[in-house]
Amino acid sequence: MFQLAPHRILSSVTAALVLTLGLWVSSGRAAEAAAAATSALPKLLDLGSKSCIPCKMMAPLLKELTEEYAGKLQVEFIDVWVKENAAKGKEYGISAIPTQIFFAPDGKELWRHEGFFAKADILAKWKELGFDLGTATAPKIERWEPAAKDARAKDQICTLCDGDISPKTAVVVTSAKGDVRLCSLHCAFILYSCLTEDKTGFEKRVSVTDYATGTLVAASDVAYLQGADGKTGRPWIKAFASRDGAAKEMQTGGGSIIGWAALQESELSQRCGFCDRSLYPQDVASVRVEGAQSYGCCAHCAMGVTARTGKDTEVRQPDGLTGEMIIVKTLGGAVASVEPATAVAWFGKKQTADGKWVSAGCFHQGFFATPENLRQWLDVHPLETGEMITIQQSLADKMKLTPQQIQKACKIGECAPK
Ligand SMILES: [Zn+2]
Ligand SMILES: [Zn+2]
Repeated sequence: MFQLAPHRILSSVTAALVLTLGLWVSSGRAAEAAAAATSALPKLLDLGSKSCIPCKMMAPLLKELTEEYAGKLQVEFIDVWVKENAAKGKEYGISAIPTQIFFAPDGKELWRHEGFFAKADILAKWKELGFDLGTATAPKIERWEPAAKDARAKDQICTLCDGDISPKTAVVVTSAKGDVRLCSLHCAFILYSCLTEDKTGFEKRVSVTDYATGTLVAASDVAYLQGADGKTGRPWIKAFASRDGAAKEMQTGGGSIIGWAALQESELSQRCGFCDRSLYPQDVASVRVEGAQSYGCCAHCAMGVTARTGKDTEVRQPDGLTGEMIIVKTLGGAVASVEPATAVAWFGKKQTADGKWVSAGCFHQGFFATPENLRQWLDVHPLETGEMITIQQSLADKMKLTPQQIQKACKIGECAPK
């Protein structure tokens, strides 16, 4: 555990300080009495400032302790560098910031510490002092109303992934219920992979955008340029009404020219081990099932692989905000370990016309290394609605599905596009 040196208020003990020390001790007792009056809970008091570096590092963990141990521990912060609190440092007899003082429910000071003090160490200290705070009560994170209005026109939103539709790659699939507009051929093949109806002649229902001119053309008589991003390896597809157009683009952008059949084969080659949707491994969760490689098209589908196969799995899914890898191991249909231990799941939900809350679909789910990461992700995704659940809950939800429900999972009509 690394330590940061506390910010010394008094670098040396002067004669004057020795003289006033008696006074400090007595006002310290007054402070103890004040602490007892306000609370019957053990109390952690942090005296610091908003600008000293170790004090700033204390701020998020104090917030977490406040939320996670609400009703068990009182947490208070006093900024001793602001004018109105100028006397507090003296009152509590501190000589450095930050200083953490541990008070018993009766207000008696139990112990104090100077400098940055890690959350785990604080909890361990409370235990050592005879106060078992138990396990953290997870703060509730939920959103049942979008935090912003979707300003996009309906025909600019991909029906499947809700992403923006670029005029250079738009795809239209005709269906019995009307035209479905999609952002990409990849989304078209995801749609294909989860259709329950007869799919013969699917390509005849698909129109793609000619990358060169921006006009819609029939998917079956198009040359496709397929390549992969140099950095991520994620595939990309560009459609061209003429082979010459594709050849020209290939000279600058690389890739190889293929027809519909080869494109379809390649697009459908990697599937979700739970719901059978086509996917790109770069986008999704990796699932090891007894040494074999599988994938989950979202975090919850990854847990679903355990339910579908009945085998022990190891799921790796990057944090939706930071990309930090979250590793979940299952044993006998239950979660055996989660790394990091603070990781949580987001269950994206949407409301149906009759008011029921259902899954918002695979593009709206995720794992996060901490509840705070999820909170920050929600800030930048104002349209997302749903709630935070534990990773254990995510698996339990899948384990209780019947084989019939698993069979139908994520097929159009379940996680149906709007
Ligand atoms: Zn899309
Ligand atoms: Zn899936």
